Amino acid sequence: MNISESKRLFAHAQQFIPGGVNSPVRAFRAVGGEPLFIKRADGAFLFDENDNPFIELINSWGPMILGHNHPMIRKAVIQAMHEGTSFGAPTAREVEIAELITKMVPSVEKVRMVNSGTEATMSAIRVARGFTGKDKIIKMIGHYHGHGDSFLIAAGSGAVTMGQPDSPGVTAGTAKDTLLAPYNDLEAIEELVRFNKDEIAALILEPVPGNMGLVIPMPGYLEGLREICNRERIVLIFDEVMTGFRLAPGGAQELYGVTPDMTTLGKIIGGGMPVGAYGGKKEIMDFVSPSGPVYQAGTLSGNPIAMAAGLAMLGFLNDHPETYGVLNQIGMKISEGIKKINLELGYDYTVSHLGSMYSLFFTPEPVVDFESAKTSDTALFGKYFQAMLQRGVYLAPSQFESLFLSTALTDELIDRILEAHRESMIEIH
Ligand code: PLP
Repeated sequence: MNISESKRLFAHAQQFIPGGVNSPVRAFRAVGGEPLFIKRADGAFLFDENDNPFIELINSWGPMILGHNHPMIRKAVIQAMHEGTSFGAPTAREVEIAELITKMVPSVEKVRMVNSGTEATMSAIRVARGFTGKDKIIKMIGHYHGHGDSFLIAAGSGAVTMGQPDSPGVTAGTAKDTLLAPYNDLEAIEELVRFNKDEIAALILEPVPGNMGLVIPMPGYLEGLREICNRERIVLIFDEVMTGFRLAPGGAQELYGVTPDMTTLGKIIGGGMPVGAYGGKKEIMDFVSPSGPVYQAGTLSGNPIAMAAGLAMLGFLNDHPETYGVLNQIGMKISEGIKKINLELGYDYTVSHLGSMYSLFFTPEPVVDFESAKTSDTALFGKYFQAMLQRGVYLAPSQFESLFLSTALTDELIDRILEAHRESMIEIH
């Protein structure tokens, strides 16, 4: 495969951009080789600067649930562009999207739009602290909530992929207010609550984590967290930046029937534009300025083009709930296909799957938390990643990331993915 243009651009980029990329995992450090520079994307395909096509299994790390360059979103963006790119003043579209989000996401009665998932989570814990008058938060080991200081402590996703789960630059003062617990372990939460009585403002987690690879909550776990948080007056925050609008129109909270006090959103909500949001119960959200004392603002928040893209995306998902059945089928065909091939070849590896998310862990252990996720052979994953890439399938360049499927994956493409999987597994062992 000729990837000369990507190589040239990467060499040039490193002179002007740290590591040559604007987000660390894009550099492919964990999987070896050099990143592809992408020229365009359409449907189920990415095309690099040499016009090589790749079947997409990350979809911009989640947002492109309907595939790339969807005509409906393109049309909405172009229409909005004709009216101007930013006003810094309220717009009708912001009201429309806020109303739609409150309709779709069970926990959200009021919502504030921001520009990224990171902003959403940073803001949500500030509001929870302001609301409760308490300082500490509980976070799960291996979960990723963006790069806010309070969260770069035992962080998953790119942070752990780059070997930087605890980043220099986060002060000890900040770190001491983030308490850590293993995922899927209610007793660990009870213990933290006992030792920090009346000091915990919020418990934040990915209800179905994708940032240590995909891990499924054990039966009763989310319900148990809900009970503890009710009892202890802790604000329960579901970070649904990945799972929101992906696992169901109302995210993991709809799927599992557990309603948090606050929810953070991102990725799909912007239809591929930079958007995030945080929302929750009215009484909590009314603590946000200007209705309340907790300050949070943004020059480009609620940007008209981003709102147009988001509205097109959410409007479609809301009007077409059958999309989730289609996505489930696609996820099922790929994950079951992988399991079957592994079995035939004699490899006992763990595949976790939910809806349109899945992960292949190179370990026979059931993966229930970060400790078990780490038993995956990451060197072997790196080889697998390269073998799949050579066969035209683009995976997340990290073991500690779920894959995100789109409706653009046809049966024919699924067969090609499974054939690439078979060949890759044979090649790397
Ligand atoms: N929360 C979760 C669960 C995420 O997966 C991510 C990003 O991957 C974030 C927050 C941060 O979002 P962003 O990258 O838009 O800042």
